[in-house]
Parts: sequence; structure tokens; C-alpha cells
Amino acid sequence: MKSGKCPKCGSSDLSPRTWTKMAFVKKIICQECLYVELWADNPEQAGVSRRKLVLVYCVVFGITAALVAVPWILALLRDD
Ligand SMILES: [Zn+2]
Repeated sequence: MKSGKCPKCGSSDLSPRTWTKMAFVKKIICQECLYVELWADNPEQAGVSRRKLVLVYCVVFGITAALVAVPWILALLRDD
């Protein structure tokens, strides 16, 4: 899409490149079919935000696992 054509419908009626709320990530929207493409200009910086994303995912997964595990462990203890 950076080449100026929508990969989905082939239209060249694209929105100007705009920054997203995600750091270093830009987006283009096809005005024809509303296909959205996101990319990072600097792969190194994208790597940093991907690592941050993985970290956030791990924390969220850990909290979710704890919330599931604690009642399960308590139930096991109660049965014994
Ligand atoms: Zn399109």
C-alpha cells in the first residue's frame, strides 16, 4: 500500500499517511474499501514496541492465570 495502491481492491484513492496512537506505527486507509494498513518505518523501533507488547501480554496472561488458578487451588484444598 505504501506504493500507492490498495492490495485488496487495487484503488489508488488512499488517505494520507497518519500516525496512530501506537508509537512509531503509521497507517493508510483505502477510501474505496476501507482496507487499513499499519506499518513501522523503523523496524528497530517496531521491535521495541513488539517486545513491550509481549511483556504486556505476559503480565495480562499471568494475572489471568492467577485469577483462574487461585479459586481452582482453593477448591482442591476444600475437597481434601
Ligand atoms: Zn481498497
